[in-house]
Amino acid sequence: MTQKHIISRKLRRVFIKGPKKVKMVFKKRKHSKQKCGNCGKHLGGTIRERPYKMRTTAKTKKRPTRKFGGVLCPECTKKELKKRIRS
Ligand SMILES: [Zn+2]
Repeated sequence: MTQKHIISRKLRRVFIKGPKKVKMVFKKRKHSKQKCGNCGKHLGGTIRERPYKMRTTAKTKKRPTRKFGGVLCPECTKKELKKRIRS
């Protein structure tokens, strides 16, 4: 009987080219893209990696270094900062 992890699409399929044949390898999927905490838009400048790689990656490479970087999108950041300055 075929194993269940092969039938399901829980793991992604990666094809590795060898000298004579192509080998199929199962690998774990990356998490979904980071979203803005206000509007839900996908955030730019953030990376999607497995936890073991995130641990070794520099903090500056994980998200933008401005205020609310990696939390809010640029438009929402602009609005939020204006709101805070005026109040
Ligand atoms: Zn936003």
